[in-house]
Order: sequence, then C-alpha cells, then structure tokens
Amino acid sequence: MEGRYHSIESFGNVDGPGTRMVLFLQGCPLRCLYCHNADTWLMKDGNTITTDEVITRFEKNIAFYRKGGITVSGGEPLLQIDFITELFTKLQAKGVHTCIDTSGAVFQPGNQHQEEKLKQLLAVTDLLLIDIKHIDSAKNKILTGQPNEHMLSFIRFVDMQKVPFWIRHVLVPGYSDDQDDLYQLGKFIGDLNYAKVLEVLPYHRMGANKWDMMGMEYPLETVIEPSKESVMEAKQLIFKGIAERQAERRAAQKN
Ligand code: SF4
Repeated sequence: MEGRYHSIESFGNVDGPGTRMVLFLQGCPLRCLYCHNADTWLMKDGNTITTDEVITRFEKNIAFYRKGGITVSGGEPLLQIDFITELFTKLQAKGVHTCIDTSGAVFQPGNQHQEEKLKQLLAVTDLLLIDIKHIDSAKNKILTGQPNEHMLSFIRFVDMQKVPFWIRHVLVPGYSDDQDDLYQLGKFIGDLNYAKVLEVLPYHRMGANKWDMMGMEYPLETVIEPSKESVMEAKQLIFKGIAERQAERRAAQKN
C-alpha cells in the first residue's frame, strides 16, 4: 500500500523511546498557530512511499534501532490509518517497537467503522504520543482551528483500549499557559489509566521560516519562547491536578 509522506528522519531522539526512524506523513486538518511543519498541511504536497519501501529504509539502519523503533508522525498520521496499520502489522511481526504521534483530531466519536479501524491499528501499536493542544475547547479552537471535544474523546478511547501513551502539551505564552487551564489539564489526565509520561514542551519559533516560505504571515511573531522555569511551573501545576484527581478516584473507590 502507498502512503503520502513529507520526510523521513533516520535517527530521531525526541519522538518516543530510544533512537527511532520517524516517518512524517503528509496532510493535517489542524492549523496550529505555532505549527513547525506547515508544509505538511496539504496532502497533495507530499510524495508517495509504499510500506515495503519504509521497511527497507528501516532495515538499512536496524542496528541503531534496537532500543528504539519507528514513530509515524506528521502532519496528522491518522488521516492515513490503513497505510499505518499495514506498516505496523509488518513491523510488529519483525519485533519492531511501533509508535504514533497524533492529536486525535480526525476522531469521530460514535463512528463505529472508524472505531473498528482504530482498534485494528492499536492492536499493532506499542505506544502513542498524544498532543493535548488545549484543555479549554474555545481556546483550543483559537490555537488550532478546531474545538477539542473529539480530541479528548480520542484519548479516552485509546485509554479504554489499554494502549499506553504519553501526553504532550506545548506551552505557548499567552495561549496555553493559564494556571487554571494547566491544573484542569492535570485533572483530565488524572482520570486516565494508561497515560505513562507527561511532556511539557516549550513553544519555539523553529517553523516560522516555513510560514514565510509559504507566503503566510507567522501568527505568533510577537510571542516569546517560555523560560525553563515557566515550563517547570506548568508541569508542577499539571501534576497537582493529576494528583488531586487520582486522590478523588481513590476516595470514590473506597466508598
Ligand atoms: S497538528 Fe502538528 S502538523 Fe498539524 S497544524 Fe498542528 S502542529 Fe502543525
């Protein structure tokens, strides 16, 4: 099967455990104001690659991936769910660790056909990296172009399938760093059973040049990258929410 892709990073170290091949698929329904991969947005801009070609590229450097594996990122990789399912089915049969980096923005709660496809994919997926862009739906719409209810439903769906995932949150000053929002984000995460790692990533301007090259005005021109201290503080607020929600759950179980 063929997929449309943007690029391949042979030795990625930030998209999942260990050293990984990272396949960036083309196409994304979101328009995040801080997007560092704006050139992945349109499906037509990508090139094609087959699952066997991906595997051949992977096996060329397989010695480096023993403690890592493969991550499929984007864009929004779940736009090409059949392609990933075929790829991961072949790779898992070879013992390769498989990971998807997604926002869940394509999830349609109640769409049974899609849920069946997702279950097939999750059956051959070892880990997900899930972006929660914003816990507040109205602010999520400002930041990404879409409200967040379906994205949060996606996370609950993955949690119910008992597949482990990491949560990622990009801290954008003035957009996603409100103290109560961070605390509420923690409360949401505290309700989940398979969230294993929390990463708070500082907003950075590294993708701004792509906006320029595409003839678009970069919307966060005046936003300054957050300090290490504010990232730490944000993480602490989220952990406070997680701890409190988990304590509430334990108390409810006792009663
Ligand atoms: S989900 Fe990722 S690729 Fe899509 S707009 Fe947001 S940052 Fe860009």
